[in-house]
This record gives sequence, structure tokens and C-alpha cells, in this order.
Amino acid sequence: MRLALVSIVLVLLSACATAAHPNATVQRLYVIDCGENHVNDLSRWTSPADAGKPFVFSDNCYLIKHGKDWMLWDSGYPDALALLPHGQTSPNGLITAYRKKPLVDSLREIGLTPADITVFAMSHSHPDHAGNANLFVASTVYMQTAEYDAVFGSQPQRYGFNPAYLAKLRYAKVRKLHGDHDVFGDGSVVIKSTPGHTPGHQSLFVRLPKTGPVLLSGDMVHLKSNWDARRAPAINYNAEETLRSMRQMDAFMQATGAKLWINHDPEQSATLPKAPQFFE
Ligand SMILES: [Zn+2]
Repeated sequence: MRLALVSIVLVLLSACATAAHPNATVQRLYVIDCGENHVNDLSRWTSPADAGKPFVFSDNCYLIKHGKDWMLWDSGYPDALALLPHGQTSPNGLITAYRKKPLVDSLREIGLTPADITVFAMSHSHPDHAGNANLFVASTVYMQTAEYDAVFGSQPQRYGFNPAYLAKLRYAKVRKLHGDHDVFGDGSVVIKSTPGHTPGHQSLFVRLPKTGPVLLSGDMVHLKSNWDARRAPAINYNAEETLRSMRQMDAFMQATGAKLWINHDPEQSATLPKAPQFFE
């Protein structure tokens, strides 16, 4: 009897908690194909067992509709790459970058131009995420201060950045962050600070009405196998920091019930319908 009473009180309490903190959501989310990374030695991202093994990483951008706002998360490889059918190989020969369709074409299919993107943020500033950043100079841009300082500091190459891809952001409305940030103030989209791959790397929590909460990994982790093994690639700016970010996001996902969408994991990416289809 007493047990029954206790459980009724608990149910009432949790109902109150829900009413006080409504689970606000965005309206929809599009996954946009933003290129491919073809590599000739997967071991640099995984373990020595994969030495000399070729691999193709997916590369996505994500477009989010929140009320009257459109938010773009990552911008993929530069649109100019779509003109090169054989892609572009990095000077060290390790990566060949491909882009099938320009980002502006994918946006146009949804009825948008870059000027309609009111909020722009990137997981980090490597060319496969920041390639079209200069298109979003009219948006409000969210960057971690550590990332901004590394891109526009004296040694951007040290972090694998090409500042030319982000040069126009110097003149944009950049909101510099020192950690997590609730983008629309209702908890539906939260930038999570996940340093390690780069100094100011960040991931994105998005709450969807039907799909539920998801965490967009950025390059906090490149593959599900790395997530399962809690493995950080040797190429990262700081492997220890990456592992700490992974542990924090594991706890965060357990607390929120969020699913992890790993940007570069080709197997998982193939299961996600691409724009103009969308998730609700
Ligand atoms: Zn990447």
C-alpha cells in the first residue's frame, strides 16, 4: 500500500518535472552529402592492424529547421571540388577528397540560398567541414575561442587548417564560446564542447520530434569501431583530450537518451536518408 502511494507520488513528481522543462524540439533535420574522404592507409585513423588498407569515409553536413531559423552544421568540402571528377589529392598523398554535388545545389533543392542560413557552426575547421564557410558570412557563427584562435593565429597549418576557407568569417558575427551553448535557448539544439581532434572541436545535440535526441559527432570519433574501442586516432591534436570528450559524451548520451550519429562512418551514414529527404 505504502509502496503504491510512493509510486503515485513519483509519477506525479515526474509529470511536474516534464511540465516545468518541456522537451522542446526542432522541426526537422536534413543530412546532406558533403563529400567523401578516400584514404590509402586507414591505420592513421584506427590501429596498426589496418596499415595500408584503403577506406572511404563519408562526409555529411546537417541542416536544421528551428522556428523561423535555419541552422547549418558543417559545410563539407569546397563546392569547387564538384568540378573535379577525379577529386583532389592532398600534398602528402594520404587523402583524396571528392564532392559529387555543390552544397548550394543541395540547399536550392530545399528552396534555400546561403543567405537563408541564420545560424552557422562547424564541428571544427578542417577542410572537409569548413570548405564552404565563406558562404555564411551573413549568418551568426558559433565557434569555440580555442578554435578561432588556432585558425586565425600564426600557425594554422600546425592544426591542419587552411584559413583561406574561413577568411570571410573574420567579418561575420562570430559568437566565441568557452564550452557548451544552448543555441536557441530552449534546449533543442546544444553545442557541446568536445576538444581533442582540434583545440576547439565541438559536437551538436539536436532534439527531433519523432526521431528523438541525436548527437552529431563531428570528428570527436570517426568510426563506430573507434567508439566501441574508445580509440582516438594518432592524427588528433590531443588524443588524451579526445578520450576525455568521448567519456563525457558517453555519460551525456546516457543521461539524454541521444543516439550517436558519426559523421564519417560510411556504414551508418548509408542508413540515413539524404536531403531533400529529412528527419522529424
Ligand atoms: Zn573530418
